[in-house]
Amino acid sequence: MRYMAPYNKNRVGLHTFTDSSDNQQYLYSQFEAFHAFRVFPCFDQPDLKAKMSLIVLCPTEWRAVSNAIERRYNLRDDNNRSGRHILERSGIEWFLHFYDDESEVAISEFEQTPRISTYLYALCAGPYQVFEDYDPMYVPQRIFVRQSLVEFLRHELMFGITKTTLDFYQRNFGARYPFTKVDHVMSPDYKYGAMENVGCITYSDEIMCSEKHMSVPKLTFFTVVIQHELCHMWFGNLVTMKWWNDLWLNEAFATSLSYKACSEGGPFVEPYKDEAWLHMSGYKRWGLAEDLMPSNHKIQAECPTTDTAESLIDGITYGKGSSMIKQLIFLMGWEVFCKGLKIYFKRHAWSNTELPDFINCMQTGFNESRPDEELDLDNWSEKWL
Ligand SMILES: [Zn+2]
Repeated sequence: MRYMAPYNKNRVGLHTFTDSSDNQQYLYSQFEAFHAFRVFPCFDQPDLKAKMSLIVLCPTEWRAVSNAIERRYNLRDDNNRSGRHILERSGIEWFLHFYDDESEVAISEFEQTPRISTYLYALCAGPYQVFEDYDPMYVPQRIFVRQSLVEFLRHELMFGITKTTLDFYQRNFGARYPFTKVDHVMSPDYKYGAMENVGCITYSDEIMCSEKHMSVPKLTFFTVVIQHELCHMWFGNLVTMKWWNDLWLNEAFATSLSYKACSEGGPFVEPYKDEAWLHMSGYKRWGLAEDLMPSNHKIQAECPTTDTAESLIDGITYGKGSSMIKQLIFLMGWEVFCKGLKIYFKRHAWSNTELPDFINCMQTGFNESRPDEELDLDNWSEKWL
């Protein structure tokens, strides 16, 4: 099928941005909740997972980033014609007709992804400056930042927080980081704080790198945003909600666990641990405020159509929901809570779940760890969610 789609200017689909300071053009995608169709035809809902293969042609001075690791060929010095063979094999050499000069074309061929939901696919491209971290103890990391913001980027801090946080989640979730790399892409005009695309996190560059001197509260948020998105690699990306009515489980969990991770400190995170719970109280207030509004809803929301999905990105889902997860951690105890999580990830990896699946694993974890005590989590979820 041949399908052409224009770039978007409204921060969803494949958004295009031109930096007014140097006239450089950048692209990034934002597909949650259902914008993948703006780039290619697909069945776009979270329980329809598929492996994605991707080949990108772009100007040689651009870099292309997606969910998996890529091999890149500049046609200018592609002496054994590997790049051209990739195009021929896929029947897309006709794309070269869009360029006046083929020697100006770079081809990036991405490895096939595991089975993931379409809202987690990503593509970013542009003349990004790239910072790299290859530590044999961790998956490779890169940061992509537009050239005019390089001086504001804290790349060592970002790499360091990521490693500390991967250690924390791997230890407590009982499952290794499920993907092959972590790329961090600083994105202008961003619609949200950040987005947990598989292996390719996009961030609002305003939050992460718009100023040279950041206060401790701002750096705490900087830390927690990274930790929130990394948490989604397990909670959301490895195990995904069946439908958007369970979005709270994704977001409440990532919000609550990111503050837990921050409060534990560790290398690079230590200076911000004291602020963690104080900062989370802001989320709680957001939840309380929206709970008082006539438009409030249950945490486990009604979501009759895809159109409703984005209206659930609100204070109830994030603020009230994360407070409930915090309550659950308190009720079960951290070690027992983690025991439930380990069962959850083992049982449901690479598939989709609904609230009863989560409650069931947590109940099993509790019953196995504390057989002499009573805690009815069905009753808890009925009462509070
Ligand atoms: Zn999130």
